[in-house]
Amino acid sequence: MPIRFINSKTGQKEAFETIEPGVVRIYNCGPTVYNYNHIGNFRAYMFADLLRRYLKLRGFRVEQATNITDVDDKIIKNSIEKKLSIQQFTATYIRAFLEDLDFLEIEPVEYRPRATEYIESMITMIRELEARGHTYTMDGSVYFSLKTFPGYGGLNHIEPEKLRQAADGRFEADEYEKEDVRDFALWKKPGAGGEHSWDSPWGPGRPGWHIECSAMIRSIFGEQGVDIHAGGIDLLFPHHENELAQSCCAYPEDHFVRFWLHNEHLLVAGKKMSKSAGNFYTLRDLREEDRARELVEKKAAPGFLLELIQSGKLARSLRYLYSSFHYRTKLNFTFDNLKAANASCERIEAFLLELKEHFGLTLDPVFQNDVSARQFSPVVLKKDWADFLDSLDDDLGTPRALAIVFECLGRLSRELHQGQLSLEAAREFTIFMGFFQELTGVLKAPEQKQALSQTVEKLIAEREAARRARDFARSDAIRDELQAMGIALIDTPQGTTWKNL
Ligand code: AMP
Ligand code: ZN
Repeated sequence: MPIRFINSKTGQKEAFETIEPGVVRIYNCGPTVYNYNHIGNFRAYMFADLLRRYLKLRGFRVEQATNITDVDDKIIKNSIEKKLSIQQFTATYIRAFLEDLDFLEIEPVEYRPRATEYIESMITMIRELEARGHTYTMDGSVYFSLKTFPGYGGLNHIEPEKLRQAADGRFEADEYEKEDVRDFALWKKPGAGGEHSWDSPWGPGRPGWHIECSAMIRSIFGEQGVDIHAGGIDLLFPHHENELAQSCCAYPEDHFVRFWLHNEHLLVAGKKMSKSAGNFYTLRDLREEDRARELVEKKAAPGFLLELIQSGKLARSLRYLYSSFHYRTKLNFTFDNLKAANASCERIEAFLLELKEHFGLTLDPVFQNDVSARQFSPVVLKKDWADFLDSLDDDLGTPRALAIVFECLGRLSRELHQGQLSLEAAREFTIFMGFFQELTGVLKAPEQKQALSQTVEKLIAEREAARRARDFARSDAIRDELQAMGIALIDTPQGTTWKNL
């Protein structure tokens, strides 16, 4: 079966092909840098990272651009309030964003364009639109006229009636509601606050948000456009609809975008994140020990968060958590889910160590594959590997791919404990996990065994204490927790020991 993705444009699962065989070009919308990014934003970047790693695993050369929107209404407003230039104001958040990406081990992309570096291309594009009769100027600003483009609404399947009703409206702001199907600004005259502006044929001003992405795609990738345009579901309308309209109208010969992929949102404990609800987490809130400690003290997070930070396992737990939900379903973030994510990773690590101990296998292939995924043709684990790849080929089905890994692990683990596991199967599993690691980046190198046994020993001591205090509910809960980590407890008259399940 070929690689297939659900294309937001058609709502259909389509066979994936790139314009140039063996090369995939991707553009995903990056942050607007007026604030620190929250863990919902990182779902979007993690999705793009998984997509990239998967396509590389599948043998593609990836050329990816993720922009930084460093000029928009909020940036201008906040920089004026803080009496800073746009550059000074955004520098803090750009640096923080890049540090956060590094922390999450999101792979560097080939292009990281900043909107303010592409103003010339945006002006060129607006001029093209003007020359083809798609714009009008009013009071120093330039607007895209929806009625000049009959294909408008094609990405979001907007009813023609709604378009007709909307035909005479205009919209100034960068942010607007789903219902606001109106002409949008391509070039905006400066506000009254003496804000920074750029010269243009229409007078001083600055570009609208939507034109930024269209122009950057054109500048970086040229007429061939991109094979995949990705972003969060909230960008589907109006941002991506408007990008599409601008690009099709300015350059009718362009390919622009072939596959539109959108990730669903992240929720916290089933609710939309908001500051007022007290469930709003930037990545820094979780990863910086001082901030995390504050959350723990306020009982907004469990103490376990600090353990994850201290053992260097927070990033991988988040990565696993993001990967364990399909990108097109809502992701429910809870600290329990985070804990379970870490336990799943530890379970794989513990089993790999067991294989190492039993068979003297080197774990190098796990952390440094020396064969390509296409050359790997397991004999014993043939079906597991084929199912794993097929799940991913099917619209990046990471939850099913993870389930296949654990089914395989469980089976091999039983065989090992029954003395029936072959060296060949063990070796194939470590190579399999090497590719799994390339895709997910969640496994820790074997030196970390120390940390695992420390966690386990600590939990065993806690269980012992609970039993002495006759708190059997707690002691059972600890046993279950260890079981979820793939650890079985063995109570002996000399005390409790443990083994991997
Ligand atoms: P923004 O900085 O608001 O433009 O958002 C940056 C990226 O994060 C975009 O791709 C958004 O669609 C995405 N995004 C925003 N909020 C969430 C959320 N709660 N869950 C997942 N993605 C989100
Ligand atoms: Zn964009």
